[in-house]
Amino acid sequence: MSQLQRPDAMPRMTERPFDAASGRKNPLDILKTVYGYPAFRGKQAAVVERVVSGGDAVVLFPTGAGKSLCFQIPALCRDGVGIVVSPLIALMRDQVEALKQLGVRAAALNSSLTREEFLDVRRAIANGDLDLLYVTPERIVTPAFKEMIGNAKISLFAIDEAHCVSQWGHDFRPEYRELGQLAEHYPGVPRMALTATADPHTREDIIDKLSLRSAEVFTTSFDRPNIAYEIVERDQPRQQLLRFLSRHKGSSGIVYCLSRAKVEDTAEWLNGQGIRALAYHAGMDRSVRDANQDAFLKEEDLCLVATVAFGMGIDKPNVRYVAHLDLPGSVEAYYQETGRAGRDGLPSDVWMAYGMADVIQRGRMIDGGTSGDDIKRVERAKLNALLAICETPGCRRQSILAHFGEAHAGKCGNCDTCVNPVETWDGTDAAIKALAAIYRTGERFGTGHLIDVLLGNENEKTTRFGHADMPVFGAGKDIPSKTWQSVYRQLLAAGLVSVDHEAFGALKLEPDARAVFKREREVRFRKDRPTTGKAARHSKGGSPAAKAELSGGDQDLFQQLRALRAGLAKEMGVPPYVIFPDTTLIALSKERPQTRDALLGISGIGQSKLERYGDAFLKVIRAFE
Ligand code: ADP
Ligand code: ZN
Repeated sequence: MSQLQRPDAMPRMTERPFDAASGRKNPLDILKTVYGYPAFRGKQAAVVERVVSGGDAVVLFPTGAGKSLCFQIPALCRDGVGIVVSPLIALMRDQVEALKQLGVRAAALNSSLTREEFLDVRRAIANGDLDLLYVTPERIVTPAFKEMIGNAKISLFAIDEAHCVSQWGHDFRPEYRELGQLAEHYPGVPRMALTATADPHTREDIIDKLSLRSAEVFTTSFDRPNIAYEIVERDQPRQQLLRFLSRHKGSSGIVYCLSRAKVEDTAEWLNGQGIRALAYHAGMDRSVRDANQDAFLKEEDLCLVATVAFGMGIDKPNVRYVAHLDLPGSVEAYYQETGRAGRDGLPSDVWMAYGMADVIQRGRMIDGGTSGDDIKRVERAKLNALLAICETPGCRRQSILAHFGEAHAGKCGNCDTCVNPVETWDGTDAAIKALAAIYRTGERFGTGHLIDVLLGNENEKTTRFGHADMPVFGAGKDIPSKTWQSVYRQLLAAGLVSVDHEAFGALKLEPDARAVFKREREVRFRKDRPTTGKAARHSKGGSPAAKAELSGGDQDLFQQLRALRAGLAKEMGVPPYVIFPDTTLIALSKERPQTRDALLGISGIGQSKLERYGDAFLKVIRAFE
C-alpha cells in the first residue's frame, strides 16, 4: 500500500487523458473521459459551475449523491492544486488511490509520510504537478503548511465532512473551527464545504464558523430511495439480528452497538454462528482496529461490528446493510449511520431493534454529560424525535424526512410500515390508566414498577409503598405486560410523559397529559406485532444487491467479473471498488461489450480505467457464453 501512496507513482503530465485529448478543461469532458460517467447528477453541474467560475459553495447532499465530484472536477478544471480537508488520515489513502486509478495526480499530506515522501509532495506542489492534495484540518492552518504552499497556485479549498465544525452535530472536531482562517490567509481562492448533515443548526454553524456567508448553498432531497428502513421492538435481539443477517449472505455491512463490550461480545457470537465478523471501537489496539477497518474496505463478505467511532468518511460504496442493536442518540445520528449503506445506489437494508431501556440509557447519557443545559435540552428533543419515528404507525421515510423539513407523500413502499402496515387501536382508556399509575404513585417510578401496579402484581415494592391498596392496582389486568411497555413508549414518543433521569428513569407527566385525563384528547396506539424477521423490501430472499438486478446468465458473468476484480484488487492491495464499483460490473454483465470502444460506453469506465483494466475484463466477457 505504501508503495502506491508514494507520489513518485503519480502519472506524468502526458498521461492525463483530458489534456491529451483536447487540452480543454471542460467539466463535462472531464466527467466523461476521466470518470467515464455520461452525465452529471442532480445539482452536481450547478455546483461545479459555481466553483469553476471562482465562487464559494456549501453543498448539503445526502450520502451517495456524489459530493466528491463536486470538488474534484472543479479542481481539475482550474489551474493549481485543489486542497481537500478531510478528518481521517486512514481514509485519505483510499481516496488518493481511487484518484490515481483515474489518472488524476493526487497525494495526501499526513503524519504517516516519510521525510522523503513529504519532500516529494512538496516538490510536486511547487512544480504544479498535483491536481488534488488531501490534508488534515489541524495541519492546514499551520504556518508550516502556508510556507510549504509558498507561491504555488491553489485551485480551491474543499472542506469535507464540514458538519464537524458544529457542536450541535455528533462529530464535533474543535480543529474545524480554525478553518475559517483560510478565507483571510488565501483570499480569492474559492472555498467549499460539503456534508451529508442537513439540520439547520449545523448548516448555520458551517456558514458562520467557516466564513461562508457569501457562498451559494446547494441542497437536494435527502431521501435515499434505495435504502429500505425497518425498526423492530427488541425481543430476542441476537436471534432477531441473525434473522436480519441471514438475508445478507455474501455481502458486507455494519452492526452498530452502543458499548465496546457489546461490540466485542456480538462479534464473537456472530463468528460462532458462522458469520464472519470483526470488531471496531476506539478502545481497541490501534493496529488491530486499522486492520479490521482495512479488511472491511477490501472484503465483500464481512460484518463489521462497531461503535459509532466507526464510519465517518467511509467511502465503501457497497455496504449492503446497517443494523443497530441499540438506539442512536438522535435522528441525525441514525440517518448518518444508516446512510452508510448503499452509497452506490443499489438496494440496501437498514434495521434497528430498540426498547424502552435504550431510551432510559440514552437519556441518562445526555443528562450525565458535560454539555450545558441548552444543549442538553436540544439533545433530549432529538432523542424524542427518534423515538417518535420508531413508534410511528405511518411511513418511516415520511417521518424521517419530515424531521429534516422535507415533505414526502408517504407510502414509500420501501419501509417496514409500508410493506406490512401496522394496525392502530383506540388507546384512550389504556392511556388514562397508564397515566394514572404514574400520577398515583407520585411520579417516582419507572415502567417496570408501573406495569406491576397496573397488572396487580404483588411484590415487596408494591407492598412497601402501599401501592397494592390503590384503586389503580390491577386496573390494567386486561392488557399484557408487553403491550403496557409499548403504551409507555408511545406516551413518551407523543410527549405526554417524560423520563426523569435524575430519579433513575422515573416517568413524569407532561402538561399535555391533562387533556387525555379529561378525555379532551383521544389517543391511538400502534399495535405491537410479532417480529417475523420478514424483509422490509419484497426481495428475493436477501442476496447481494446484484442478484436483484441481474438475470441468471448475467449473474454468472457478474460473478466471474467480480472474481477478476477481487484478484486484481488483492494484487494491488486496494479495495475492489477502487477498480470498478458494482454498478459498473452490473452494466458490463448486462451489456457485454466486445470492444474497447464499447467499454467506454459503460458508466464508470474512463480512459485511465480502460488502459489499466479494459483488456482483462474484455477477455472474460468475450470468453463467456
Ligand atoms: P457522497 O460523497 O456524496 O456520499 P460519492 O462522491 O462517494 O458520494 O459518490 C457516490 C457514488 O456515486 C460514487 O461511486 C461515485 O463515483 C458515483 N457518482 C457520483 N457522481 C456520479 C455521476 N454523475 N454519474 C454516475 N455516478 C456518479
Ligand atoms: Zn414507507
